[in-house]
Amino acid sequence: SRIYAGSGVSQTPNEIIWEKGEQENMQSQTELRNILQRIDHRGYPAYKDTRGSYDFRNYILSIDHVQGDPFASPSKVSVHVRGAAAGFPADLYQMKCRRTALEDYLLRQFGRELEKVSFKAKGSGKSGLLSVSRCGQEVLERTACQLDEKSGDLVLRFEVGFPANGRTVNSRELEKIFFEFLPQCVSRSLFYKALDEKVVKAVADLAEDQEFIRSQLKERGLVAFVADGAVLPRESGVSGRPMKGAVRFESPASLSVELELPHHGKLTGMGIRRGITLIVGGGYHGKSTLLKALELGVYSHISGDGREYVITDDTAVKIRAEDGRSIQKVDISMFISNLPNKKDTKKFCTEDASGSTSQAANVVEAMEAGTQAFLIDEDTSATNFMIRDELMQRVVNREDEPITPFIDRIEELYREYGISTVLVAGSSGSYFHKADCVIQMNQYRPVEITESAKAEAERFPMPPSQPPRQTKPQFARCVKADRAFREDRMKMKTMGRDGISINRDTIDVRYVEQLVDSEQLAALGYLLKYAQCHVFDGKKTMGQAVDYLEKLLVEKGLAAICESSYLPCGLAMPRRQEIFACVNRYRKLMI
Ligand code: ADP
Ligand code: MG
Repeated sequence: SRIYAGSGVSQTPNEIIWEKGEQENMQSQTELRNILQRIDHRGYPAYKDTRGSYDFRNYILSIDHVQGDPFASPSKVSVHVRGAAAGFPADLYQMKCRRTALEDYLLRQFGRELEKVSFKAKGSGKSGLLSVSRCGQEVLERTACQLDEKSGDLVLRFEVGFPANGRTVNSRELEKIFFEFLPQCVSRSLFYKALDEKVVKAVADLAEDQEFIRSQLKERGLVAFVADGAVLPRESGVSGRPMKGAVRFESPASLSVELELPHHGKLTGMGIRRGITLIVGGGYHGKSTLLKALELGVYSHISGDGREYVITDDTAVKIRAEDGRSIQKVDISMFISNLPNKKDTKKFCTEDASGSTSQAANVVEAMEAGTQAFLIDEDTSATNFMIRDELMQRVVNREDEPITPFIDRIEELYREYGISTVLVAGSSGSYFHKADCVIQMNQYRPVEITESAKAEAERFPMPPSQPPRQTKPQFARCVKADRAFREDRMKMKTMGRDGISINRDTIDVRYVEQLVDSEQLAALGYLLKYAQCHVFDGKKTMGQAVDYLEKLLVEKGLAAICESSYLPCGLAMPRRQEIFACVNRYRKLMI
């Protein structure tokens, strides 16, 4: 750990490099050139000699990790720019939300520049590759770009494929990268003077406006806000970009809310109130598209996305069925009891859950994670978890049915636990009886139909159902690693957006729909590794363990959970809810 102190660092990584770099091992650019010239044509491992930090006058180049061969994962490099040199005005980064947006913007700018010069240096394997985190539509806190809130010091972390001919060093090409391409990328993207002031300010202002809407949700008793003019549908199922020519969102007058944003000024849109909200409408009229936008409204979106001003309660959790998942000692008794095999549903365990048990566990685990809002789409729910229709109730006795459907608990969830539900219902009318607000999507336009829906529902009374009385679910599960681990001996990798594998055990997160970026999975992987060695001691409950991890992340950042000698470049911050989701799906824990 030459530059960073590894896990448990108390300073931010960028502070440390200045101190150590200046005192001990900073070298000049000329020294780097000399090393490169000395090792040319030698065996590839000679590149290891380049590790270190080098003064490039207006920034420091740090070679943090050197790849073992030309086909291995590329080398890790970082660029550090002093706050005074970068020159960003403090009001762009003192507030956390503004800073995160600025970091995200700089990362995108830097990425654009890198792309232009990637593979311009040639050779075998990954020679000449220059790559940095690819950001999607959401603005996330990432290790790839960090700006210090006090000093304004800036760090960019990225990867460079050190060039080779076959398996020998081709340092002339690396010289081009470090002395021609990179300085150009840095000077074009990381200095305030090189950027468009107005655009940079707009980025930070948007973030502050989004944060303001978030705070207004709480104040006004709303679960979500969807601005008039928002573009909700995406270009395609595999693209996050806005659909061209889409019908823009327009709030029904009865649900319209007016906000006065600090920068944008007046903004109107639909306020979804706390309580039970039903979204209905014919097939293909835009229901799921609205719900999806609400799911992702826990994050802030970039300018031009169309969902910039779609903001949801940041604890909201999408609840869906997830056949096949594992469940470890979850108290699902409020939904399922008296199973024919006498299985204990207060500490329910299975390696292969059914649709209904998986959805019940997803609800209870989200409660444990502290959610204040459920987002549910009938399309992805288990029917027998959601409702039991009248005829079925007549034919099969209550006593013979282990499932208390969600409809019989939805009011209690709001009343007793303050958890609101936004539910897309295309086919089951029973929920009309429970809803506080009914929104119909009609050709992509929302219409409030609460009154008429309620009146109609009154003419179709529900058969009396008496759900069994319920005590508060128990959240007393303790988590323990299944054996003693050494962090440096654990292998972790991510499978895109789908899963995390730790020592070959896969954690399937395909259906944790509010994970948006593979870098969040990477961070969760590191977090689990860290937790298995330092947190899951068999004494802390799941809640206490996640509280501990979350506090660590908030106070010390992602650096706190990485035991490597340098901070990996590809990590993005997950939410508390997804930390829970991930721990809950890890089959190797003893709970
Ligand atoms: P539902 O859930 O009501 O069946 P979806 O939300 O799946 O409907 O939307 C159906 C289709 O309509 C999707 O292809 C979606 O991209 C498109 N769509 C949704 N909202 C809009 C809109 N505002 N403008 C244009 N097309 C839209
Ligand atoms: Mg749908």
